[in-house]
Amino acid sequence: ATRDGGEPVRCYEPSMGERAARRLRLIRGFSAAVARRDVRVDFQPVVSLGTRTVVGVEALARWDHPELGLLLPDEFVPVLEATGQIAELTTFVLDESLAAARRWLDRGMRLSVAVNVSVGNLAVDDFAEEVAALLAVHRVPAELLTLELTESGVSSEREVALPVLRRLHSLGCHLAVDDFGTGQSSLAHLRRLPVDQVKIDKSFVLGMGTEYGDVAVVRAIVDLGHTLGLTVVAEGVEQAAVRVALAEMGCDVAQGYLVSRPLPARCFDTWLESLDVH
Ligand code: C2E
Ligand code: CA
Ligand code: CA
Ligand code: CA
Repeated sequence: ATRDGGEPVRCYEPSMGERAARRLRLIRGFSAAVARRDVRVDFQPVVSLGTRTVVGVEALARWDHPELGLLLPDEFVPVLEATGQIAELTTFVLDESLAAARRWLDRGMRLSVAVNVSVGNLAVDDFAEEVAALLAVHRVPAELLTLELTESGVSSEREVALPVLRRLHSLGCHLAVDDFGTGQSSLAHLRRLPVDQVKIDKSFVLGMGTEYGDVAVVRAIVDLGHTLGLTVVAEGVEQAAVRVALAEMGCDVAQGYLVSRPLPARCFDTWLESLDVH
């Protein structure tokens, strides 16, 4: 829309060349960024809908780039997946998360930690052995670690992933299907994979406040999960009314801005302590 008949006003959109250059910058700079600790892990609390207590956290990667600013995983995770550098990110996130779990245990808090895992991680034959080694180094019981798999991740390389998933499961780690309801053949996965948890995609949970259809979808997933003996997690809980509705449906645990945004480790610890006070 223009007033003088000239070129329409457009929002700034990076050209293909600029995007490729930015991508290359991330690829080349990642390892050094990890070494400099520009990459960090934030923790978002997960609460029990029954007892209303904090039962765990989800670990979410952030990259505080000195020139590009704070980068979110939706930008850099796909880039690292494409190059194979995702292995380095996952090792870093597991290490930070298990160190934090150990710190909480030492203070008498038994919090579980959920770490996101990509298909590229599961394609590495000794991934389960790496996880076992990190659990041992940090002296964290395996049942406190949950690995979250996105459905696209588990469907595209099913032959590779299954033995690794079975080994992780036999270690005692929990496995969760993330973003449930958005991928393909979701139901087949729940039957076929050794999973313990189903995480309802936040798009349905966010819609519960306004869309009756989303309420119905969420209720169906809660019932299905329970029928299969799984723990059901809702993410994207922003409104108190949605939390109440989820609790009434019997959903087990919830995560969302209503409770807290993801917080850097130190802020998370302060937030936890503030709960004790009240
Ligand atoms: P995800 O696993 O589905 O994680 C949940 C995302 O929802 C997070 O975005 C979180 O900040 C956001 N979220 C939490 N509560 C709310 C809420 O109440 N409302 C809304 N609107 N959003 C909420 P984030 O941190 O930007 O992460 C995006 C995705 O990046 C994650 O989605 C996950 O798939 C991926 N990711 C994050 N960290 C890692 C990692 O270390 N490794 C891998 N492979 N992927 C990661
Ligand atoms: Ca997740
Ligand atoms: Ca999710
Ligand atoms: Ca997601």
